[in-house]
Formats: sequence, C-alpha cells, structure tokens
Amino acid sequence: MQANPQARVSTLKGVGPRLEATLAKLGVFRLVDLLLHLPLRYQDRTRVVPLIEVHAGDDCLVEGRIESVNVQFGKRRSLRVVVRDDTGQVALRFFHFSRYQQNALEQASFVRAYGEFRFFGRELTCAHPEYETFHEAPPPPTPALTPIYPTTQGLGQNRLRKLVASLCEQSWPDIAGAPFTKLCYLHQPPAAATLDEIAAAAEEIALDELTAYYLVMKGRALKRAEESAMPLPQAEGLGRRLLDHLGFRLTKAQARVVREVLEDLEKAVPMLRLVQGDVGSGKTVIAAFAAIRAAEHGCQTALMAPTELLAEQHYLNFSSWLAPLGLRVTLLTGQLSAKESRIRLAEVASGASHVVVGTHALFQEKVSFDNLALSIIDEQHRFGVHQRMALQHKVADTNRQPHQLVMTATPIPRTLTMALYADMDVSVIDELPKGRQAITTHTLESGKRPQLVERFRQVLASGQQAYWVCTLIDESDEIDATAATTLFEALTAALPDFRVGLLHGRLKSDDKVGIMQAFKARELNLLVATTVVEVGVDVPNATHMVIENADRLGLAQLHQLRGRVGRGEIASHCYLLFNSGVSEAAKVRLNAMRESQDGFYLAEQDLKLRGPGDILGTRQAGEQSFRIADLGVHAHLMPEVIRRGEALLGANDEPSTQEALALLEAWAPADTGHLSA
Ligand code: ADP
Ligand code: MG
Repeated sequence: MQANPQARVSTLKGVGPRLEATLAKLGVFRLVDLLLHLPLRYQDRTRVVPLIEVHAGDDCLVEGRIESVNVQFGKRRSLRVVVRDDTGQVALRFFHFSRYQQNALEQASFVRAYGEFRFFGRELTCAHPEYETFHEAPPPPTPALTPIYPTTQGLGQNRLRKLVASLCEQSWPDIAGAPFTKLCYLHQPPAAATLDEIAAAAEEIALDELTAYYLVMKGRALKRAEESAMPLPQAEGLGRRLLDHLGFRLTKAQARVVREVLEDLEKAVPMLRLVQGDVGSGKTVIAAFAAIRAAEHGCQTALMAPTELLAEQHYLNFSSWLAPLGLRVTLLTGQLSAKESRIRLAEVASGASHVVVGTHALFQEKVSFDNLALSIIDEQHRFGVHQRMALQHKVADTNRQPHQLVMTATPIPRTLTMALYADMDVSVIDELPKGRQAITTHTLESGKRPQLVERFRQVLASGQQAYWVCTLIDESDEIDATAATTLFEALTAALPDFRVGLLHGRLKSDDKVGIMQAFKARELNLLVATTVVEVGVDVPNATHMVIENADRLGLAQLHQLRGRVGRGEIASHCYLLFNSGVSEAAKVRLNAMRESQDGFYLAEQDLKLRGPGDILGTRQAGEQSFRIADLGVHAHLMPEVIRRGEALLGANDEPSTQEALALLEAWAPADTGHLSA
C-alpha cells in the first residue's frame, strides 16, 4: 500500500500526542513534513579514529577501553571517563549526568563515543559525547554516514533517526515536485555515497523548493498589481520638518531610498519594497519618513520589530521624531497590564494613534486599526522564509491593502535578490553615515580577560560605555542566562566604581526594556548581555564590546553583534575572545572579522569557509530558512530557478500549469495547508 504524504504524523507507529506536539515545534505536522525534515549534515562515523590521531577541534568517532570513571569536584562537578586504546588516551566529560549513567559507564568495559574534542586543561576531552557502552570489544561501526537533524528539546537524534527510517521503509507515490525516493536517499545515503553525490541529490530538491518559492513570489506580485491601496501623494511637508530637526543630514543613499519609497506610496497599487542596508546604515529613519507621509493623510502605520527590545527602541526614536510634528506613536507589547493594553488598543482602533509599534503581536486578532495604510517590518530576515510564504496582512474590511516596507541588514548579493524577492522592489543603502569611525577589531585568548578588564576600567572612566557579550555553546536560554549572571557578578566585583547591568533572554520583558533604557540614558556604564543585543540596538555612546567565545559564532552573527558599537563619532573597539585550542577554521573566521567590516564581504567569506560536511547548509540558529535549499550552497541555481519558474508560468504569467501547481502544493508551508499563489 502506498503511504499518503498528507497524512498526519500521528498515523506513524509510535507517534503519540506527546511526540506529535514535539514534532509540531519542528514544523512537522504531516508525513511529508517529516520527509522534508532533512539532515543538516552528516557525520562520518564509519571510521574509528585511533586516539593518537585525535586533534583539538576535531569531530570524530573514537573507541577504547574504559580506564576509569570518577566524579570530580572542580569549579563544576563533573563525571570524567578516561578512555584508552593501543595508541593513546582521551577523556570524556559530563557536567550533567545521572546516577544511572554513571553506573552504566562503571560497569562497562568499552565505550564508543562521537563528539568534538577540545583541550580541557592539558587533556584532550570530549564534553557530552554521544556514546554507547560495551562489555566486550565493540563491533565495527555502521558503514553509512550518520544524518544529523535539526531537532528540539525532548527529541533526540536517535529517536528522530528511527522515526525517519520507518518512514523511508514505506512506499511513496511519485508526485511531481516532491521526489520522495530522492528524499529518502538524503535521509539514508548508502554506504558508498560520496558527499558530492549527496550534494547533487540535495541540489535537485533545492531546485524544486526554490522554484516553488519563486512561483509563490511571482503569484504574489501578480496579485499585488491587481490590488488597490490608498495613494499617499505629497501633502503637508511634515517630512521636511523632520529633516530640519533630525540633527543629522541624510546620506545620499538614504535620500535616494526615501525618494524611492515616497514615490511608491503615491501610487494606488500597494507598495512592497525591501530596503537593504548594512547594520548602522540608518534604515529606521527611512521608515519614519514613510510613516509621516501616511499620517499626513490621516492614515496609520504599523511598525513590526522582531523583539520587544527593538520595538521599544523604535518607539523611543519615532516618538522623538514624530511627536514634535504633532503625531502620536503607540507602543504595543505583550507585557502590558490588561488595563493599559485596553487603553492603547482603543487608541489604535479610534485612529488617535498614527504609528503603532510592536512585535508580531501586532498581527493578533484583537489589534484593529482605524485606517491602516502602511505596514513596516524591520529586520525581516528574522521572520523567515516560511512566514514570508504564509504571511497574511492585517486588512481592514475595505478592499485596500496596506503598503508594505520591509527592512533588512542581511547582505544578499544582487543576483540572489532577483529570485528571492521576485515579488518586491528593492532599495539598497550602500553608504554609511559620515563621521563613522571604523571599529578596530582585536582577537584575544580568553586568558587575557584580566588585562581587558583593566582596559575597560579606563574606557568607562572616560565616560564611554561598553557591552560585554556572553555567548555559549549551548543554545539554551537557561544556561546562557546562568553564564551571563556569573560574568555579571565577576565584572561587578572587578569594576566597583561603575554601574554594571545585566541583560538576558530570561528577564521579564519590562525588565529588559528598563535595563536597555538605563543603558541608553547612561545610567549604566557596562552592559553584560547575551546575544539578545544582537539585533538593532542603538546606543552611540557605547564604543567598546567584548564577545566571549567568539569562535563559536558565525560571521553573520558576529557582524550583527559588532554593529552595536561604532555608531557614534568616537573610535570603537571590538574584542573577540576565544579559548585556547580553537580550530583552524575558527581562526580564519575571526581573522576575517578583524580584516573587514563589510557585511557583504563577510557573508561571502562565511560561505567559502563552510566545510564539506555542510553540504546541506549550516543554518544559523534563530534564522528561519528554506527547508532544503541553502543560499550559500545553492546560489548558483538561481538563474536556473528563474528560467524554470518562468517556463512554468501559464498564460497571463500565472503559476497555473500542472507542474507549477504540483510544486506549490508539495512545498506549501506545513501550518497553513495549501497555498494558492
Ligand atoms: P540600522 O540601519 O542598523 O537600522 P539605524 O537606523 O539604527 O541603523 O541607525 C543607526 C544610528 O545612526 C542611529 O543612531 C541613527 O540615528 C543614526 N543615523 C542614521 N542616519 C544618519 C545620518 N545620515 N547621519 C548620522 N547619523 C545617522
Ligand atoms: Mg535597524
């Protein structure tokens, strides 16, 4: 019997309500979603590496006799397991372990483990490896590559692997646009498959996915051309008044982009414009000019930011720019008291408020606008491809669509833009405001931290402010928060003459905002933070930044973080800390950061630096992307995507051919069901 790709995952044996809920967090609702949940990469566990050949920074499979198992009480309690083979010795270490785990390791004679090795003191150590214990010498390892899936808490790699394996055993119908046999091949590449062969298979599927995406965008562009929007022609000249009290002159690039936006707004067709500009290029003020134009016509603007922190900052900026013009700005966040929330919602509903700033909460049912003419989405990359494929506008009962302005700091090469944003017009701010100082970037071993604290003592004493960013390997808010708290305590003790603040994702939203405001108001000298400060935070007086464990972050994220300094006229410095024993690849990345401040250049380097294991792409945490396509890897497919996409469009440019519809159906986002383009 043939399996039905549209059936719910709960129809799979062993998937109960609990697992179903966990899978839903991964965007897996139907069987086809699970098939499309492809490995991020593969690990080569086909070869056991002799212990003498293990180097710091290597991911590898090792095995050997268990020499000793003991609990150590250092700074942190841990379980240390010494493993030895004929060539050498390494250690495995567990900072979280159960009594059960300890017993099993004590009773076993052999262990086989997989993970990354680093120096822990002078000992090559793998922390929290995946491992298996044996009572006699282990059998040869599996001859196939091991897939590594993106997963979520409560669902281990092994469980996921088994689930997918059971799926691949079934027989699948051959549907155009979603070649199931090829998908199964990617889940379970045969023993002899080379990485190149796997990459080629992935590429074919990526081509399908990108083509489907292109068709959706084309369909949307078509639909937009037929829609109507409120035309917002030049009116009272409030924009000119903003120019006068802005306190700086627009760069040529900003002026050009403002013009492009305002020209769009004059039309009776909804604008859909993407503004691309590197961090610090001054995108926010562009949004302000657009909002003012809407307000001149008595219309409202919704401004959506990816975090509450950023929403708050936009609120403050917009208020300072718009209030003098007699315009009212309202902040809506999820954290308001019921009463306050009611008052503000009423303000929005009545039209008393001209600009409404918030997070995605703005798209909630209960927010109703009086006369919404423009919606602005900041840092669009955070919202992801699928949300973009599915995003519905909040439309009033009229036939009119709001104009839409989307802003992003993600550097996307021009060739990609054409395919990716086939539905949009694109403006680029290719110039930074004058007077910006270059950020001098230093790379430093973490052992030099004490000297850095001394350096910061002088910087803070001179009245400048600084960030100390704490990043951890574990992508867990809880652990990140603990680490940041520890660092905060140490720095508070080391710098008693200064006020140190702490900002992390576990704080209540109000507290976060309060701390950020205090920092902005210079009530805090130093801000210890997790990567929550990554996006858009703007404090020009902050000139120094330390990034802990910088070797663990990708270039894009480092660039975003570093972009928090270098916003004023004082020379800025960024210190990238790394631990001894980092891999060569990490060193190359850190050097690239030292050499360049150009987001486009760094994005290119990021792609070049990817290893062969990353054929399916290293998707950055928090950043939603295509399910299979990875722009770094598959950018060269774009001309083919456009060619094929165009060929699939029917009469009137509509994606209505049979193959087009099959593609659209196969790749429709899981949670929205079918997408009619
Ligand atoms: P981003 O493009 O990263 O969103 P912002 O809009 O936050 O950048 O702008 C960064 C900082 O630069 C803000 O403090 C903003 O007020 C300031 N700024 C924007 N445009 C100019 C300009 N033309 N000259 C000087 N400063 C500017
Ligand atoms: Mg911004």
